[in-house]
Amino acid sequence: MTNIPSLMRAAVTRDWNDIQIEQVPVPDIESGEVLVRVGACGICGTDLKILAGLYQGYWPPSLPFIQGHEWAGTVAALGDGVVGLQVGDRVTAENHQGCGTCVNCRSGRYNLCEGAGTGNSAHKIYGHSSQGAFAEYAVRPARLLHKLPDTVSFEEGTLVNQGALGLHAIHRCGIEPGDTVAVIGPGLIGLVTMQLAKAFGAARVIVVGHGPRLDLARELGADDLVDGTKGNSTEGLRALTNGRGVDCVFECAGTPAAIKTALSSVKRGGRIALIGLTGNQLIDVNMDRLTLDEIDVFGVRSSPNSYPELINLITAGKVNVGKLVSRVYPLERIAEAIEAFRNREAGAIRMVVRF
Ligand SMILES: [Zn+2]
Ligand SMILES: [Zn+2]
Repeated sequence: MTNIPSLMRAAVTRDWNDIQIEQVPVPDIESGEVLVRVGACGICGTDLKILAGLYQGYWPPSLPFIQGHEWAGTVAALGDGVVGLQVGDRVTAENHQGCGTCVNCRSGRYNLCEGAGTGNSAHKIYGHSSQGAFAEYAVRPARLLHKLPDTVSFEEGTLVNQGALGLHAIHRCGIEPGDTVAVIGPGLIGLVTMQLAKAFGAARVIVVGHGPRLDLARELGADDLVDGTKGNSTEGLRALTNGRGVDCVFECAGTPAAIKTALSSVKRGGRIALIGLTGNQLIDVNMDRLTLDEIDVFGVRSSPNSYPELINLITAGKVNVGKLVSRVYPLERIAEAIEAFRNREAGAIRMVVRF
């Protein structure tokens, strides 16, 4: 390796809700791995929960720890046996590494790796259970890296991680040309999924939410808006579809109320993609409605096999992710960026740390 320092700056989670800028060793690369100089790393809602210690013991397994899983950068060095990448390539990284050998991994569903939670060290979620990218350098297996064209900035590259989740949801749900689609919850994932639905041929996309995010949804191409603070959202969606309901609903809010809206506003024979998490809350559901109206419900987790396609869609201008970067901070101000994100400043779709 040439020009690689032995030490780097990193934001280290020292204790719960205590993140410090420190000098730490640049990680070594092993066979099949790549050292990447981090260009930018986004701050996600999950980062706030990990930082607060809500998943302590497994995300992260122990402290100190380096978080950060939504990022892009430049290849700095290659381990033995890496093909398809060169020093200087611009890349973005998947964070979910399946064990590679279980039945789900071998069928391409590595987001559902059976090695998860079993202590199988081949299963890793970088930034959650293995070292993340709030640091000047990060190491990843080559197969988790995807090239970014020069026209996609590092800041935009940080949004591929969440955007690819939206794309996975689109594939799970199966958008058909001409569909009327509802997106509940215009946060980052909702605002990307909304654009993807149109790119896949939805004739009409209705976004359900409230506040300034609805204005952003309109700016990004939403055809109709339902303000959940100004009446019943199901009635709003039914009124916009002549009482029939929508063909497909993407639930991106993760609240019991939003899930109930999804279930009650989808048409007979419609589809629902559940993307948001409620934190293990129990919800009353009329199961007969699902049976008698043949409602298809799809759980959606992570973004298997979705990065290259999403990068192509961003490059082609089919999805605008640049508008979803709310503010950019230097690494030294990461604690301030986290606080601003928590307080939903500047719309706070995404705060990004730029190196
Ligand atoms: Zn995330
Ligand atoms: Zn596996």
